[in-house]
Amino acid sequence: MSTPGVLYIVATPIGNLEDMTFRAVRILGEVDLIAAEDTRHTRKLLTHYGISKPLTSYFDHNKIFKGGYILDRLRGGLSVALVTDAGTPCISDPGYQLVRSAVDEGIVVVPIPGPSAAIAALSASGLPTDSFVFLGFLPNRPGKRREYISAFRKEKRVVVLYEAPVRLMATLGDIRDLLGDRSVVVARELTKLHEEFVRGAVSEVIDLFVARRVQVRGEVVILVSPGSDEVQIPDAAQTQALLRQYLFDESLSLKDAVRRVVAELGLQRSEVYAQALLLKESQKD
Ligand code: SAM
Repeated sequence: MSTPGVLYIVATPIGNLEDMTFRAVRILGEVDLIAAEDTRHTRKLLTHYGISKPLTSYFDHNKIFKGGYILDRLRGGLSVALVTDAGTPCISDPGYQLVRSAVDEGIVVVPIPGPSAAIAALSASGLPTDSFVFLGFLPNRPGKRREYISAFRKEKRVVVLYEAPVRLMATLGDIRDLLGDRSVVVARELTKLHEEFVRGAVSEVIDLFVARRVQVRGEVVILVSPGSDEVQIPDAAQTQALLRQYLFDESLSLKDAVRRVVAELGLQRSEVYAQALLLKESQKD
């Protein structure tokens, strides 16, 4: 039996091609096979560096089948590099299952470190960097997203989030409503021509984007600073607004609506239940 090959996890630029490391270029030029999230995208990167190597795709929807194929190649002694479209594989990107399986089989996995948007954003944010929480992407569904955001109400570390530009304003609005007017940083288009850091209280940052009158474009990282000890207590209007949304807009059952609001606002169940009953009753009139 041949000695298994090595699986390299290779970080690539998040916008600026100069952010490729010498080692990443060398490894991509030496491996037998490159597994890429999008082979066309990666081919451009390889061409830029004069690298010509066999490519195979590895992305979320083929990861089970392709994971098996890649592991077979590794078992057969070939070395494989995994890359994604931008940044570090496995960080809100495909790769985890492949690495897990390789580790379980005793295949050597070697990281080739480089850019990651979360770290780049944090490093220049001006927020405390001694410890932080990385949440990746929040759930798409508004209710679930709010539950998630509420869960870090008492978090004492900076929270780092990835967000799609189309949902940026909604997420900032949820942060303001559920966590209070915290200091936030929106790091946009890092390492690219239009890189910017928008810093301020979340309400100011929202106003600034609204004043531009154009949909926010590009890629964004949101960083939320820890709350002060006197976390704002949600008021009755906020509780009622959320209850109305779940009961009447989203047609949730009374039980589910109450459960959501309790989770999001951290209130007593009995208190929320009483308000929900009153609201339901008032709808009947
Ligand atoms: N693996 C990548 C990494 O290590 O950063 C993350 C990939 S994830 C699919 C893409 C998200 O990362 C984007 O939606 C955005 O939140 C963030 N991102 C990637 N590149 C960025 C950039 N140049 N500027 C700001 N955010 C970026």
